[in-house]
Amino acid sequence: MKEKLALYGDVLENVSLKEYNTFRIGGLCHYMISPFTVLDLQNLLSFLQLQHICYFVLGNGSNVIFSDDFFEGVVIRLNHFDQIEFSGLRVNAEAGVLLPKLASLSIQQSLTGLEWAIGIPGTVGGSVFGNAGAYNSCIFDLLEQVTVLTMQGEIQNLKKDEITYGYRTTYFKENPEYIILKATFLLAAGNKEESQERVHTRQMKRRATQPLEYPNAGSVFRNPSSDNPSGRIIESLGLKGMQVGGAKVSEKHANFIINTGNATSNDVRNLIELVHQRVQDECNIDLVMEQEYVGWDQYEKENK
Ligand SMILES: Cc1cc2nc3c(=O)[nH]c(=O)nc-3n(C[C@H](O)[C@H](O)[C@H](O)COP(=O)(O)OP(=O)(O)OC[C@H]3O[C@@H](n4cnc5c(N)ncnc54)[C@H](O)[C@@H]3O)c2cc1C
Repeated sequence: MKEKLALYGDVLENVSLKEYNTFRIGGLCHYMISPFTVLDLQNLLSFLQLQHICYFVLGNGSNVIFSDDFFEGVVIRLNHFDQIEFSGLRVNAEAGVLLPKLASLSIQQSLTGLEWAIGIPGTVGGSVFGNAGAYNSCIFDLLEQVTVLTMQGEIQNLKKDEITYGYRTTYFKENPEYIILKATFLLAAGNKEESQERVHTRQMKRRATQPLEYPNAGSVFRNPSSDNPSGRIIESLGLKGMQVGGAKVSEKHANFIINTGNATSNDVRNLIELVHQRVQDECNIDLVMEQEYVGWDQYEKENK
């Protein structure tokens, strides 16, 4: 199988997913493949479908909680899709480009709009998928168009107004069969020094308020509203420091769960459930998760 997959990109076998997500948790996957071109990806998809092999598309793994179980399928990474093209106020970025890189290159081009993205360790693909954002801005504010690959191997250009989206959610989350290949953003003419200053201030703020010294996957829950952030609700219940196994509610930011060293996926999920339940019982608020639990049953079943 490895030789067959190698026709479509770089292949690794029996890979620990811990190395491929910012939480540093998860089991092994049977294969991981990084296609070089869109054609490789198209051919790979049709091969996997013919063979009834399930797959999961991974960005930088900064919003996922992987299961500890073995994944009897293929994880597809688009890390070779890393081209960025500037044209006037527009920038085209392939799915595998990291947001901090896109933001800093845009600033170097004296373009403004993406400063908020500098501290978000996701790819363009993963960030369009979940409509990442910060400081009252989000990726869909700047988006013009997304190029996707359908399950049938067809390339489609979707204009922003053809895609429904909201706070940390999009059409793609409801329709995960689309693979995001590339996105076009419209920025504005800016001042490099002012943008660099803004970025510096925000990075200092993130370092001061987020537990970046521990593996984590960003905010656990969406905020019920902008004036009632989840972190404040969880902190008000005294849940900072609550721990299950190696997973702990951060002392620095109550909406972050950190891996103190050897947390399992179940530790993280059980802790999330406990926090969710306490908030439900004591505040009557049903917090919605921002992070995504990735269990393999659903993928493996679909292909049987
Ligand atoms: C320290 C820290 C701070 C963070 N701060 C923020 C923040 O301020 N705001 C915010 O919104 N998020 C934040 N996050 C969360 C995370 O970085 C974002 O959600 C990011 O956009 C996820 O991108 P990713 O490439 O890591 O996606 P992944 O975690 O790899 O994947 C997430 C989902 O996207 C899907 N996906 C990935 N690539 C593609 C593709 N090409 N086509 C189709 N589907 C795809 C995956 O299948 C998965 O379902 C933070 C995370 C950390 C660790």
